[in-house]
Amino acid sequence: MSLNKSKTPQPVIIKGKELQCPVCGNKSFSKRRAQLNSAVATFFNLDWTNRSASCYVCSECTHILWFLDE
Ligand SMILES: [Zn+2]
Repeated sequence: MSLNKSKTPQPVIIKGKELQCPVCGNKSFSKRRAQLNSAVATFFNLDWTNRSASCYVCSECTHILWFLDE
């Protein structure tokens, strides 16, 4: 899996709602893109090969929220 360079933390809107960190309540995240490779797919026993995901990294506690791309 490869992670792109992070940008400046900023608010994220998911399904019309502001994303909030479940750990610390922070609302600023650095967005990253991750490619889910075959190793990850095998690990989870799911057909995720070549799928990508969006990761939002909390700027306060670094908790990561993952969203699979359609
Ligand atoms: Zn947090």
